[in-house]
Amino acid sequence: MDRRKLLKAATLASAAAGLVACKESKESSRNNLSPCDQTTQADIEWKMVTAWPKNFPGLGTGAQFLADAITQMSGGRLTVKVFGSGELVPAFEVFDAVSAGTAQMGHSAAYYWKGKLPEAQYFGAVPFGMNANEMNAWLYHGGGLELWEKAYRPFGLKPLPVGQSGVQMGGWFNKEINSKEDIKGLVMRIPGMGGEVLSRAGGTPQALPGAELFTALQTGTIDATEWVGPYNDLAFGLYQAAQFYYYPGWHEPTACLEAMINQQAFDALPEDLQSIVEFAAMAANQNMLAEFNANNQRALNALVDEHQVELRQFPDEVLQEFKKYSADVILELSQQSKLSNEIYQSYKSFADQTQSWLKVSELAYLQAR
Ligand code: CA
Repeated sequence: MDRRKLLKAATLASAAAGLVACKESKESSRNNLSPCDQTTQADIEWKMVTAWPKNFPGLGTGAQFLADAITQMSGGRLTVKVFGSGELVPAFEVFDAVSAGTAQMGHSAAYYWKGKLPEAQYFGAVPFGMNANEMNAWLYHGGGLELWEKAYRPFGLKPLPVGQSGVQMGGWFNKEINSKEDIKGLVMRIPGMGGEVLSRAGGTPQALPGAELFTALQTGTIDATEWVGPYNDLAFGLYQAAQFYYYPGWHEPTACLEAMINQQAFDALPEDLQSIVEFAAMAANQNMLAEFNANNQRALNALVDEHQVELRQFPDEVLQEFKKYSADVILELSQQSKLSNEIYQSYKSFADQTQSWLKVSELAYLQAR
């Protein structure tokens, strides 16, 4: 058989496979996003709306990595075009846009949706909760992802973990925090459960999207803000708006970022493209953590050495205060619904177990190194 005949045979085989997959997916879902009718003729194009400026270090580049991975792994059969926050929809409308099918895919953080789905917060960041490695273990092998899917299913969304920030920084402050009294009256941008904890400690949390942080801090609308860590914060120029940079990020031991996919759009893909989306997401999840870990210390050095930022550790008294309120906030969240309690029980028992293991592995090793 010559090369042309071989190619033609391969194309026909793949077309047949595509048609079979489409037939099956059509039977399992009624949808109007289905590209199946054209699967064998035309490539599929998806839009990805994001909660970050396009190509913003770590977060925006993570979304682009995922889009590129899907496009490349599928040989262009499924191309994903990324939109920065505000380009197609504002940052905080990503969830609704993907749920409604305005875009087939989104990249954001689950705790942004706490207003409509409080349970989502477990999948974004839990104060004093699991770190990146523990989160991945829970999501992929501890039942976490199944619970996340259960939480998003009523909205017609399929969630996938796509990106871990690792332990974040405590944030940027325009005054020193020397005692728990200094938290009282503090107006700080801090989303999710961390914001609720700050509120109970006497502060006033604000939930601004990333693109509005700098101006709010510079004009004094807020006294402090957390964002991510040195790599992101340096790029944002936050050192120009605040002097003190506090650690650790008690409120976000990692931010687990998410890709959400319109379930109908996903169901309409042939099986091989569905696998590509899922494995590309897994690769992007791991890659983001590596990108943050590779760049954070270099960025921190630049902040301290070149921009004269004052690096400070939160006093123990302040961390103890936050920890006390965190336990209350998490417990109360678990009492809000049956699903919330189910997720909490799973999260808590997994966290207890992994913490015991980390004591004899990572922690013991780090102390010995
Ligand atoms: Ca953050």
